[in-house]
Amino acid sequence: MNRHSLQPPNLTTAKQLKLVLPAVTIGGLVFLSLIINSFRVNPSTQAGRISLIFGAAGLLYMIFISIWGIPLLRKQPFFGWSLAIVSGLGVGVIDLYQPELMPGIPLPLSITIVVILALLSGRWPTYLFALMVIIANVLIFLYAFAGQTEMFILEAVLIPAFAIVITETILGLRNTLLVEMTRLQTLNRVARSLASSLEMHQVVSLVSSAIQNAFAADTYYVGMLQGESLHMELFFDDGEFFPATDIEIKGTLAGRVVETQRSLLIRDLVAERKKRNLPFIIVGRQRTSSSWVGTPLKMNGHIAGIIGVASYQKNVFDEGDLELLENIAQQAALALDNAGHHAEVETRSQQDSLTGVLNHNAFLTRLERQAREAVGSKKPLALIMLDIDHFKLYNDQFGHLTGDEVLTNLCQVIRRHVKKADLVGRWGGEEFVISLPNANGPQAFHVAERIRTTVENLAIKDRVGQLIPAPTVSQGIALLVDETMDFIQLVDLADQRLYIAKDHGGNGIEPTLPALEENQPQPETQDTEA
Ligand code: GH3
Ligand code: MG
Ligand code: MG
Repeated sequence: MNRHSLQPPNLTTAKQLKLVLPAVTIGGLVFLSLIINSFRVNPSTQAGRISLIFGAAGLLYMIFISIWGIPLLRKQPFFGWSLAIVSGLGVGVIDLYQPELMPGIPLPLSITIVVILALLSGRWPTYLFALMVIIANVLIFLYAFAGQTEMFILEAVLIPAFAIVITETILGLRNTLLVEMTRLQTLNRVARSLASSLEMHQVVSLVSSAIQNAFAADTYYVGMLQGESLHMELFFDDGEFFPATDIEIKGTLAGRVVETQRSLLIRDLVAERKKRNLPFIIVGRQRTSSSWVGTPLKMNGHIAGIIGVASYQKNVFDEGDLELLENIAQQAALALDNAGHHAEVETRSQQDSLTGVLNHNAFLTRLERQAREAVGSKKPLALIMLDIDHFKLYNDQFGHLTGDEVLTNLCQVIRRHVKKADLVGRWGGEEFVISLPNANGPQAFHVAERIRTTVENLAIKDRVGQLIPAPTVSQGIALLVDETMDFIQLVDLADQRLYIAKDHGGNGIEPTLPALEENQPQPETQDTEA
């Protein structure tokens, strides 16, 4: 836990009053007993008068604290110090007059004041109060009641001792609760935001900010298992993110997490490494960590990755941190799984189910984007429209399944002959489109020609294992920027040329290479071959 960032919750005045009410009530009762005592001994005597005055003043003081003190403290935290000083002086005076008052008044009074101060103002005003009680009692002991050692010990030693115990207990309790509360808040925030994350990078960056908020980490990573190595999707060390790297997990702490399938908390890494003779693997900064906590990212029962968090100091993490990290990992694994499914569905929805190339809509959407970029950067883009000649005959003669086989074989050929950045789509039936960004006419022709010759040499077998005649394709080429700026017109042009090629008897490309070269004033050096 990042203890420095813990902020006490901002309680309302009513809640603060409720917290201090028992102490204020006891204080009030103590003062009330002084007033009663005054009437018992007779208020006209010296002792009765003192008892009455102190009782009434103290009672008013308690009422003042509960009604005005709390709102004043909220507005002006420095008021806590005034409260400590006034209370210290008050208890000092009561101590001085104690022989004339009821015995045993300062101790319960001091305890109630310590509780009130610790709850409302924190540690240091409370300790100032205790210090003032000590000083008052030392002065009283030296100048007024030198003989009363027992009284001195009771009030100058016991009251401050109580003050320390009560203050530290209250503040310790509050801090423990704050740590737990912050953990729960972190987890709640992470769970909520992870639940709506559909992208791997988003998930990883959410995990990253959760770790930064909730752990006193100098370094941490999110790694995905890839065989024997760990691919660091995220790696943070000493204030800096490092580029994704792969590390061998054999012999590392991550390796131990994978092996045991369980989280691991190591409070003192240096001692642990010595004991187990583990190698030091340094990634990122040239510094070794001294405490480590790591947990598996489990997806569908198997370990898909690891989250590791480390500090350069030892004894920084405890079981609470481990538990929090496990919870974060659980949420993250779920979100990563979701993101994976989402990506898969997204890809599938853009694919043609038979051939795996882009479907009509996805192709058009992407072509529009590529065309816009091409026009914007004044770079060429070539479009090839392709249709299988007499495809109907394949269906009729060899059956639909063999027809399908021809289609998938054709797409494999097309894919082999285009670059990664090129788009291949099924326009419909046995008609396909290819977008070649950065390709001019002759370059597009060469791609089309390579596809044409490969296809006419395809060896495809029918369902009984007999070779069938290789298909042939007709192709039309159109050029963006040179011939049109509009991607729909581009498609139309290529389609018209495809039919010209068909009219010429099929197994051809339109325009011809010489025609394309003629319109190509400055031949480019780029080649579109994959
Ligand atoms: P052309 O040379 O003029 O292009 O003639 P063609 O027979 O290739 O073209 P036509 O448009 O007459 O026939 C296309 C056929 O493609 C008709 C249709 O049943 C078939 N087809 C469309 N989609 C599929 C598919 O997914 N699988 C199979 N096996 N056949 C399909
Ligand atoms: Mg056809
Ligand atoms: Mg057709």
